[in-house]
Amino acid sequence: MPIDEKFVENLEVVGKTSHADGENFHFIWGKGRSDGAAFSNDEVKAAYEAHGEEQVPLGIHGTTVAVDWDECTAQGSCMSVCPVQTFQWYRTEKDIPAADCLDNTFEGTGKTEQDERLDYTDKSQPIREHDCTQCMACQEACPEKAILIEPSYQSYHEKAAGTFVEMKGGSVNPHAHD
Ligand code: SF4
Repeated sequence: MPIDEKFVENLEVVGKTSHADGENFHFIWGKGRSDGAAFSNDEVKAAYEAHGEEQVPLGIHGTTVAVDWDECTAQGSCMSVCPVQTFQWYRTEKDIPAADCLDNTFEGTGKTEQDERLDYTDKSQPIREHDCTQCMACQEACPEKAILIEPSYQSYHEKAAGTFVEMKGGSVNPHAHD
């Protein structure tokens, strides 16, 4: 099913992924769900088995460039159309369980071409969310409708930036501080 267009109202910030430039970061909205396309996709399921990892709900990565990792089946269409390389295959930089991307830092040195995924457990990570030009190409190209580009959600990003406290198991609802 498509990404929840109202995720900023329906979900909470459960973590963030920082860019190693020390300035930029994107939030992760959870706690995810196990009825997304990734849970019924044979390539993804087989890859998790081969990787020796349990497939768990992952939530939505990014706010103005939002990728539902429970819907992402690693097709890479977003990578093939993005003019500014907003996305990277996160496992090609750090081969860690996706859940460990919460409160982790990435350099942005991962692969950015459509077929450069490590395997089908890989996910499209909006590591350069801040560079997005809002051309909408990725949202239109994604076969799973896993991506939502919504510039107006910048206010939710900024509100969360002011209220989110990194702590294990912590989460914050950005609306709770209006
Ligand atoms: S909207 Fe355009 S610039 Fe922004 S992430 Fe998608 S393809 Fe890249």
